[in-house]
Amino acid sequence: MIDLQLFSSVTSFHDLSHSTAFARNVAVFLAIVFWLGLAYWVNRDARRRVGDPILVFFTTLLSLVPYIGPVVYLPFRPSETLDAVRSRRIELRALEQQLARAQLACPVCRSWIEPDYLACPVCATMLRQACARCNAPLEPRWRMCPFCASQIEPSELDLDAALMAKAKTLALVNDGIPLVPQAEPRAADA
Ligand SMILES: [Zn+2]
Ligand SMILES: [Zn+2]
Repeated sequence: MIDLQLFSSVTSFHDLSHSTAFARNVAVFLAIVFWLGLAYWVNRDARRRVGDPILVFFTTLLSLVPYIGPVVYLPFRPSETLDAVRSRRIELRALEQQLARAQLACPVCRSWIEPDYLACPVCATMLRQACARCNAPLEPRWRMCPFCASQIEPSELDLDAALMAKAKTLALVNDGIPLVPQAEPRAADA
């Protein structure tokens, strides 16, 4: 009878140690899964945020230091993903192109113009002189035609002067309705 009791207590002790071992195995297994899961997450996150593959490799190596590695990685990881950086760069380029296009606008009516237009097709403002020899459009500051290497007359250089002259001839044609207001001698003064 005593032997039987001893036997049963030994069996229960055996069961207990058996279940403790099982619980410990499960805990170790979960710890390993969690450790590898964290390393996998760090690797995936680093690949999305870091362009340099060597840096990604060393980050993954660091993340394999159990639990401490991923925690060390967190404050150093780039805040933006590579996709976000790329899309921001594309947006910036589109903005720059828009700005460049805005600069190619008629100074009078703001219509869109090509860089080689001589005149604005919308409001008929003269934008450039044509070369006297090859008819290429010339920039106002140019002293020589870059297409045929002919000298540009100084009178052709000053676009403002040319526009003023044009306005004066228009005023003469319209006879008494000057486009540019001019001081008229008053009757009282005469
Ligand atoms: Zn215009
Ligand atoms: Zn020319």
